[in-house]
Amino acid sequence: MGNIAIGIDLGTTNSCVALVEDGAPRVVPNLWGDRLHASVAFFGEDGQVIVGNEAKRQVILNPGRTIWSVKRIIGRKSFSAEVKKAQAICAYEIVEGPNHAVRIAIDGKLLSPEEISAYILYEMKKLASEYLGEEVTDAVVTVPAYFNDNQRQATQDAGRIAGLGVMRMINEPTAAALAYGYGRDLRQRVAIYDLGGGTFDLSILEIDGDIFEVLGTSGDSYLGGDDFDLRLLSHLADRFFNDYGVNIRNNKFNLQKLREACEEAKKLFSTHEEVLISIPDVFEDELGNMQLEYLVTREEFNSLVMDLVQKSFKVCDEALYAARCTVQDLDGVILVGGPTRLPIVREAVGYYFGRTPDTSLNPDEVVALGAAIHAAGLKQSSSHTSSTHAVPAHLLDVTPLSLQIATVGGYTERIIERNTPVPIERSKIFTTVRDGQERVHIRVYQGESNREEENVLLGEFIFSGFRLGYRGEVQIEVTFAIDANGLVHVTARDMETNKRQQITITLSSSLSEDEIQRIMVDNQDGLAPA
Ligand code: AMP
Repeated sequence: MGNIAIGIDLGTTNSCVALVEDGAPRVVPNLWGDRLHASVAFFGEDGQVIVGNEAKRQVILNPGRTIWSVKRIIGRKSFSAEVKKAQAICAYEIVEGPNHAVRIAIDGKLLSPEEISAYILYEMKKLASEYLGEEVTDAVVTVPAYFNDNQRQATQDAGRIAGLGVMRMINEPTAAALAYGYGRDLRQRVAIYDLGGGTFDLSILEIDGDIFEVLGTSGDSYLGGDDFDLRLLSHLADRFFNDYGVNIRNNKFNLQKLREACEEAKKLFSTHEEVLISIPDVFEDELGNMQLEYLVTREEFNSLVMDLVQKSFKVCDEALYAARCTVQDLDGVILVGGPTRLPIVREAVGYYFGRTPDTSLNPDEVVALGAAIHAAGLKQSSSHTSSTHAVPAHLLDVTPLSLQIATVGGYTERIIERNTPVPIERSKIFTTVRDGQERVHIRVYQGESNREEENVLLGEFIFSGFRLGYRGEVQIEVTFAIDANGLVHVTARDMETNKRQQITITLSSSLSEDEIQRIMVDNQDGLAPA
């Protein structure tokens, strides 16, 4: 086991890897000096896999073999709105796997989102290993604060497939706060406004020296910079249809070109008042090529995305409420994620919080740096060495979603409320409802609704083998625990015999343990991006 552990920000659009060297956290660049790497994997016909910025270049040339934005669908079910949305816009094939899991089909081979993420994680591990000249195996990986158990479990499985020992998964805003406050001996209450490619989180943290305590968090896993791209895309596709009677949306390849151009244009609006969007061959068919060329002003762009920006403040209201504070109680607002470079976002955030947000940190790197700081701290605690560097910080986080169980008639009952500090354990006694009942069936959900179907099913299990008795006689204690990674564990105990059953939440990952083992064996020669 090496001495250095890395921090990985596994982003929707880009990923970043960092480590602590001589007491200072730093981002590891690749050989070309890139510090951010596209979260994209390209699967060549010859079996070669390319990951990162080079893979991104294949998106237009080889759209069916180039997989991007997999974080939007990892840990989700094939019937979810997010997967349906991805199917509509992705040129690669997203299909249904076992138990409504999501699979990506390439050349008739089915890959899970976990495997794609594993390729990206492996690439980050490889970069750090090459940089250090020794193999790195341990990492802290970040996830959006609002990720549910299914998404966290799937991310952890991706780490295992990549051959990483995931020491801890921490929430992206918590990592950002760590990068902001670590070693500065601050006493501050801050808001972390984290707008990524696909998700938005707002967390309120209290920093007290080396203690980082999350007071409240809220999020929207359907809001991110990619939605800004889609707004621009929709606007341009409509305009093109009105002007030329041709619908670019009808062809996924043309749509992909427009999508790329819209993302580039969106980024330019961070620094430019107007952007010329020009695609020479936006529409290609046997009759020839058609060109798209439109000048869009920042004002026009702002009006297209304003409601998305406003939507984020509903989440801020919820997080402040959960943290029991108001904007006046805050000492600072920290921006995380590429879209926070947009003036419309900065201005609106400034207006909402009544203060200019802190822009001293690089919004694309801060999460990886925080993860690296935590990784170094955990490594130091586990090796029991004393050093003046990397004193472990104490991260006190909360669960973003309530944990619930199904009761009768499609209703649910809360076991652990959202915004409860983790780790946490709560028990509940269940009993039989019929004389001679042989088993109890328990379904576990995450979400805020009191209706089963409006929450996310984490898993279900059947507890049996207890003594048969009259209704209400048998008592089964079920313990629900959420660990520091935000992962849910359930155990059931027959109170009479003390017989215990450790329950694995079976639906949590889209992969069974056997499948994970098989993938790891298949990839023994290296989960080998070129
Ligand atoms: P993630 O990889 O999840 O952090 O998200 C990256 C998101 O940031 C994508 O939607 C990018 O298009 C967006 N992004 C990156 N740089 C900029 C920029 N300069 N201005 C606006 N959005 C950006």
